[in-house]
Amino acid sequence: ALNFNAGPAMLPEEVLLEANKNWLNFNGTGMAVMELSHRSNEYEEVHEKAQVLLRELLSIPSSYEVLFLQGGASLQFSMVPMNLLTKESTGNYILTGAWSEKAWEEAKKIGQTFISASSKEQEYKSIPNIINEISEDAAYLHITSNNTIYGTQWHHFPSNEKVPLVADMSSDILSRPISMENFDLIYAGAQKNLGPSGVTVVIIKKELLARSNNSLLPTMLNYNTYAKHNSLYNTPPTLSIYLLKLVLEWAVRQGGLEALENKNKEKANILYDAIDSSSHFYVGHADKKNRSKMNVTFNLDNQELANRFLHQAKEEGFIGLNGHRSIGGCRASIYNAMPLEYVHRLAEFMKKFRNLS
Ligand code: PLP
Repeated sequence: ALNFNAGPAMLPEEVLLEANKNWLNFNGTGMAVMELSHRSNEYEEVHEKAQVLLRELLSIPSSYEVLFLQGGASLQFSMVPMNLLTKESTGNYILTGAWSEKAWEEAKKIGQTFISASSKEQEYKSIPNIINEISEDAAYLHITSNNTIYGTQWHHFPSNEKVPLVADMSSDILSRPISMENFDLIYAGAQKNLGPSGVTVVIIKKELLARSNNSLLPTMLNYNTYAKHNSLYNTPPTLSIYLLKLVLEWAVRQGGLEALENKNKEKANILYDAIDSSSHFYVGHADKKNRSKMNVTFNLDNQELANRFLHQAKEEGFIGLNGHRSIGGCRASIYNAMPLEYVHRLAEFMKKFRNLS
């Protein structure tokens, strides 16, 4: 299948083959990975290796903790304000799409919030240029680095030394190098660039952890529980973390984040060229300057034509090209694992469909 799903998404074939090879007998243990005790040396090695590789790939300094949680990015919408907001402080949000709106909605249930900027009135076609304001008592500023549904992406991150920056990187983590020092907390559900669903990665500055000292927080909703127990307070999602480790090893073999970024640029350019050279047969949703290199969103003249495009694409083996159910149209998700060849094939199909219509 030519799998363009937005997440869960395709994984590198090498990773699947390696997992398959070890499926019934992991490292000579006579057990499958998911049969190992999470307290066994064999599993702890996997756990540790995944953390070390994430630190290496993202150049994460020792002043940050790397945590493995469950509950997806959606639970982080609640955990961020639960751990970081106080009665006197405010969670600042930049709204760039449906996921940042959801994050903000959850924060409103916990404490005070403030919208620093929003591109909602522009139908989320862009990333706001100017950050209007940051409230004086800001606990943090929250952004969504890549907007999976609308196909926009931050290319330059806001920096304000006084306010901790929190980023939902679910759909573009590991797609490009970032300066870790700019961020105080990053979270990402795994099911796009990191592996299968089931594990959520949280990278948090230790200084920020020290602030999360609300002893009334439920144990499993407190970041400190994960930091103190090396994400082994309770049973972690062992199989997902094993697959995460394999994906990280694959990313290292690809040449790391710079090499992955170059490949991602090449892939995105092929599809945006197919859109831009189509004499408006295909119309990109996002403003050119804010286009995402992970999710290429576009429309055809009307939804009926789009449906015909999607139907024919499916017959030719292209999976998951329908836009998110909330906005319709089409979307090609081209995360790290997407081979260049599939992208070429999609661009060719787009040309062919246009010529025949
Ligand atoms: N944030 C972003 C940017 C996403 O793309 C998604 C899912 O696609 C989510 C959050 C929600 O993630 P989860 O399903 O892991 O809760």
